[in-house]
Amino acid sequence: MDTALERQGSGLIREADILIIGGGLSGTMLAAQLLRLPGRRKVLIVEPRSELGRGEAYSAVELGHTLNGNAARMSVDPDNADDLTQWLTAFIEAGGWPESDQQHVPISELFPPRGIFGLYVQQRLAEARELGTQNGSTAEHVRGEAVDLRLADDAVMVTLADGQVLRGGFAVLATGMFPAARTPQTESSGLNAAALDPWDVAAMRQLDPQATVLIIGSGLTMVDAVVSLEQAGHRGPIEVFSRHGLLPHVRRQPPAWQDFLAEDHSLRSPRQLMRALREQCRQAQAQGIDWQAPLDTVRAHIGRLWNQASDVQRRQFVRHVRPWWESHHHRSPPLSAELVARLHGEGRLRIQAASFKGLVESAEEALGIRICRRGEAGTTVVQGAALINSSGIEYDWRRVARPLPQQLLARGLIQPGPLALGIAARADGAVLDAEGNPADRLFAMGPPLRGMWWESTAVTDVASQAKALAGRLAELQVLASG
Ligand SMILES: Cc1cc2nc3c(=O)[nH]c(=O)nc-3n(C[C@H](O)[C@H](O)[C@H](O)COP(=O)(O)OP(=O)(O)OC[C@H]3O[C@@H](n4cnc5c(N)ncnc54)[C@H](O)[C@@H]3O)c2cc1C
Repeated sequence: MDTALERQGSGLIREADILIIGGGLSGTMLAAQLLRLPGRRKVLIVEPRSELGRGEAYSAVELGHTLNGNAARMSVDPDNADDLTQWLTAFIEAGGWPESDQQHVPISELFPPRGIFGLYVQQRLAEARELGTQNGSTAEHVRGEAVDLRLADDAVMVTLADGQVLRGGFAVLATGMFPAARTPQTESSGLNAAALDPWDVAAMRQLDPQATVLIIGSGLTMVDAVVSLEQAGHRGPIEVFSRHGLLPHVRRQPPAWQDFLAEDHSLRSPRQLMRALREQCRQAQAQGIDWQAPLDTVRAHIGRLWNQASDVQRRQFVRHVRPWWESHHHRSPPLSAELVARLHGEGRLRIQAASFKGLVESAEEALGIRICRRGEAGTTVVQGAALINSSGIEYDWRRVARPLPQQLLARGLIQPGPLALGIAARADGAVLDAEGNPADRLFAMGPPLRGMWWESTAVTDVASQAKALAGRLAELQVLASG
């Protein structure tokens, strides 16, 4: 498709072969993969942020906000597991991240700050752009928010908030994760207005260092929030509330373990999986091997197991296994985990199994939340000086108050994924419309496919999806032009 700018009504129409909506890790990696493939293509990446490749995760400016896996596990190149280690070696040699010296571990074992990982992603895009120019391929950042999308027989039309219209042969939803679930009760009680951003160290510096801080949620975002508080000089009590009261385990570097699921395709139900996994962990521990070794082998199979499972089995997993999976699989980087353990040991950080029920009116300078402790019928009010909401992500697009998800649903172009997690799609990423028909021109990748694969968010998930989807789109482009 030729580059063309024309006017239609008040909207400016720009044309491209492929429109990528969202320029975080997913959209940027997809663009990089597309640029590397033979053939000529023009890609437009719609992203409101000033920089591509960062999204929320890799916009982090605090060095203590690190990846939750070491460099050897976080390559964005599915064909080269050492890609990040190689890039990081050159980056450190050139004087970047001087603080890494203090850790005295090989570069492959470092847990890079997420902001530095963002630079790596950007450099890989820059290199792909250079390669792309040899084929006449380009990837351009269009700043703005996509607010609507329509499908025609031969094109996809995307409208941006400023009225601009983009027309592409194909479009990909790479819109990432939407902020924490808000029940109507918490919405009306202004939780998000009252809460501090878990990553905003500057805002935390405004707090009285001895103030009591309340944190809702006990996953990796809570860990980041504790790092932020520490960096901001906070030394007061931290009260953490989460439904199950589980803290993430620390990530160690376990040795390889036999891929027991590769040999046993009969395992289907969450109960069978957990039984087999516990047995493997017992065997490992009996040999003096870390339980993390067998657990890590499950990761490669989780998408297949989830995808094959019935909704009943998926519900069982979410209800009974998810809290355990979250705290054991989504593990904390060692330095952050050390900090949390130290504060816990000193009694400064307390974790309680309790559900958040809403904000309560409090005197000025104070803040109250109503919680229900696990096993108790009534609620209790807890007071603090500040509140941090680290309770997760809204995966149900029907509840996401953004124009694009709402418009896609209203137009019947998408339908909720299994258990209303993200949106439904075919294995190649083609989204399913309200009737269940796969779109010819509309695809999705990354967190929107949570319901299809359960794990569809981490660096390695996104990197392998980007490669597969780029190949598929290039194939479709050839078919469409022939
Ligand atoms: C704080 C945090 C830390 C993480 N740490 C790790 C980690 O250590 N290791 C790991 O493996 N994974 C980690 N993840 C998970 C994963 O790597 C990220 O979620 C990853 O960024 C997913 O990339 P994405 O591009 O799909 O989503 P995002 O990074 O969320 O990017 C989506 C982008 O889409 C844009 N967008 C959304 N809607 C529109 C629209 N309508 N129009 C235009 N643009 C739109 C947004 O502005 C955003 O920039 C982390 C995630 C978070 C949030």
